[in-house]
Amino acid sequence: MITYRSTRGRAPELPFTDVLLAGLAVDGGLYVPMSLPTLNPTIDASMSYAELAAEVIWPFVDGAIERGAFDDMVSDTYAQFDDPDVAPLIDLGEGVWLCDLFHGPTLAFKDFAMQLLGRLLDFELGRRSDRVTVIGATSGDTGSAAIRALADRERVSVVMLHPEGRVSEVQRRQMTTVDSPNVTNLAVQGTFDDCQDLVKAAFGDMELRVGAKLAAVNSINWARVMAQTAYYVSAAARVAGGGPVSFSVPTGNFGNVLAAWYAKRMGLPIQQLIVASNRNDVLTRVMATGALSAEDVVPSLSPSMDIQVSSNFERLLFEASDGDSEAVTALLDEFRASGHSEVDPRWMERIRSEFDAGRVDDEETLEEMGRVHREYGMLIDPHTAVGLRAGREQRAGTDVPLIVMGTAHPAKFGDAVRAATGENPPMPDRVGDLMDMPEHFDVIPNSLDAIRPYLPLQSEIDGSG
Ligand SMILES: *Cc1c(COP(=O)(O)O)cnc(C)c1O
Repeated sequence: MITYRSTRGRAPELPFTDVLLAGLAVDGGLYVPMSLPTLNPTIDASMSYAELAAEVIWPFVDGAIERGAFDDMVSDTYAQFDDPDVAPLIDLGEGVWLCDLFHGPTLAFKDFAMQLLGRLLDFELGRRSDRVTVIGATSGDTGSAAIRALADRERVSVVMLHPEGRVSEVQRRQMTTVDSPNVTNLAVQGTFDDCQDLVKAAFGDMELRVGAKLAAVNSINWARVMAQTAYYVSAAARVAGGGPVSFSVPTGNFGNVLAAWYAKRMGLPIQQLIVASNRNDVLTRVMATGALSAEDVVPSLSPSMDIQVSSNFERLLFEASDGDSEAVTALLDEFRASGHSEVDPRWMERIRSEFDAGRVDDEETLEEMGRVHREYGMLIDPHTAVGLRAGREQRAGTDVPLIVMGTAHPAKFGDAVRAATGENPPMPDRVGDLMDMPEHFDVIPNSLDAIRPYLPLQSEIDGSG
């Protein structure tokens, strides 16, 4: 059975189900597996997506959940997707492919992990006769995916923080039009990083953490990363059938591309992993300079990547340091305190040998969307365009297929698509009348005290004192 340890080294080692419920470790670190499984050699392109995903993910939960129940949850999860291939591939020629990850209920790749996470949570809480309050910060897509995965579940409440005015109207409405007694939307007067800091502060406050039974479904939750490894395995099997592939991944919090890297360590023959950023390019700068340095977040056409502190990067630092949690903690403490720290050159050497990085600004993003429309008659969203452009620019050679992860449906970012192409991307039917439905959210200042009233202590709910 795989157990999990914290990147900060001061939290107990836990089995999968406890990691699922905890999200962040009590020492402020992120959980990582003590060991990695090897991909089952029977996995191939003839399997359905759900079969393949269950096979890839199973070793991470083995011993904590029964196989039959797990397989049912996986198959139920991917039955929510409206394409029979779940993560269909589109051949753009010259060995470049798009892997469309937006066929789930909220039109972005986050549904892949969140829909499974919601089911895993409900299952485990049922077994424990327990309940939790999921608190999360979102730059847009995590929030809607989490809310759709958790709304009306009996054992979970959701409190979702988004930066006021910094998510697209469709993204906001996908969250705020959900009318469910267990869902609270809060618009914070600040940035996404402020929202993320508030969530960390809530977890750091023991009365809240324990009293309100806080849980997290942010991309810091290991279950998210784990679930995402499956579509890399699926795409590689279908494009190259066991041969080498490269991936380009539109990146913000580093959760998606990190899943690709874990898949590589599990044996997937990945030649190049390209981290694609917009003008908020902290990751490109780390790769180039070896220095973590915070800059202000600048709103861009790809808002789900408008991030300056990529929380999942901590997992990579931990792995690159061979699990030196003290050095990782010192580095991150220094970064927190001063906004700057130098990554150990030996860690950087390893990281650079595994990742390439490219930055794509708004103008180039629009150009790329326009080019794809002209050449293929196809509309792509601005995040996917960043991935495609960076992938084409950073690709080392044309002999290995390049798979670009299509992270959002173009209709989710209609304004950018219209600006680039003059076309109006139609909203898929499954989304409903978002623009006509009433919204439910409160605007709050950027302070922990402002969210306290929304996190009722369980003792008050149970009336048990
Ligand atoms: C969340 C998101 C990203 C960034 O993914 P990370 O895992 O945070 O790096 C990119 N594109 C879209 C559309 C997203 O929703």
